[in-house]
Amino acid sequence: MSELQRIPVGVLGATGMVGQHFVNFLKNHPIFDLTWVGASDRSAGKLYREATSWRLDGVMPAKTAGLTVQECKPTAAAPKLVFSAMDAGVATEIERAFAEAGHTVVSNSRNHRMEADVPLLVPEVNAEHLGMLATQKANRGWKGQIVTNPNCSTIALTMALGPLKAFGIEKIIVTTMQAISGAGYPGVPSMDITANVVPYIGSEEEKMESETQKILGAYTDGKFTDLAASVSAHCNRVPVVDGHMVAISVQLAAKPTIDEVRAAIESFRGLPQQRNLPSAPAQPVIYMTENDRPQPRRDVNRENGMAVFVGRLRKCPVLDFKMMALGHNTIRGAAGAAVLNAELMLSEGLL
Ligand code: NAP
Repeated sequence: MSELQRIPVGVLGATGMVGQHFVNFLKNHPIFDLTWVGASDRSAGKLYREATSWRLDGVMPAKTAGLTVQECKPTAAAPKLVFSAMDAGVATEIERAFAEAGHTVVSNSRNHRMEADVPLLVPEVNAEHLGMLATQKANRGWKGQIVTNPNCSTIALTMALGPLKAFGIEKIIVTTMQAISGAGYPGVPSMDITANVVPYIGSEEEKMESETQKILGAYTDGKFTDLAASVSAHCNRVPVVDGHMVAISVQLAAKPTIDEVRAAIESFRGLPQQRNLPSAPAQPVIYMTENDRPQPRRDVNRENGMAVFVGRLRKCPVLDFKMMALGHNTIRGAAGAAVLNAELMLSEGLL
């Protein structure tokens, strides 16, 4: 697609931590052209470079630096496709206003994730959940639509378990080791996290449990049905910069062999791979055979941060199998996830 044909897109909350990840992720995108940035009225009217303290590695993309920050209002100048990285305290109303006015909102915020007619999408795992958008439009009377991506730790878990869905997932116990970048900026005080582990992340366990059931559940005829599996999550903050590790134990109805489980992981592909979507990793879940991998520092940036790495698959004496998984929390767990969601929607003719 030539520069002229690229689709203009905007970012709501572009000045924040996740917003900056959107700006970075979109800078060389072959289809989406970031032409519009929105933030609070504290930033509106300023150039993006004046309104934003750039906190990512490298320099702020030059083209975005020169954009004037807009108020997050669905004016005629706002692109039809907007990614949302807004503060959760304001996202509900603003995202709804954009959808009402005919915009597609692809959101990373938690606000609409668990609503009964809003897809909570992981493109390789539950692409069929996009079928709900017709119902959403009918229910709400919106000209536009809202699609969400999960919480950063839930993405790593559901990507790792996606290949096992066909075996009938009955029980999941997951313990996370979550990076400090997941808490935004300035995040967890250094006095709390240096050489320490904090065994509490507000609302994270509840989100992981309910979002996992929705994502791994079914969509049929305008209705989501949760996965009928019990999910228990323990969430911990650890002194790692990027990359959430999740230790998973799972019980499977079909009682596959360990070789069958590993083969399912290694052969797992989804629509993003079949359609060669620009942000899709060639292999969404990569199995590592070394005893001591995956590791955040060594593996998290591979595959542009878009794959989930799994290792140490072994028998579990309590449930059936246990394994480790690693996902990049701000890329696959936030901005990259939302951009891949939009690419899938485009390929489905939904934009
Ligand atoms: P953040 O750094 O505090 O950024 C919040 C953004 O929202 C800023 O651009 C801010 O603009 C904007 N905003 C605040 N009030 C607004 C208003 N009244 N109208 C319009 N825009 C407003 O937060 P963050 O860490 O990027 O998180 C953003 C969202 O992503 C949250 O919903 C969070 O739960 C979710 N999330 C975060 C992470 C993570 O790793 N941090 C991961 C997953 C999900 P100003 O700069 O003008 O104030």
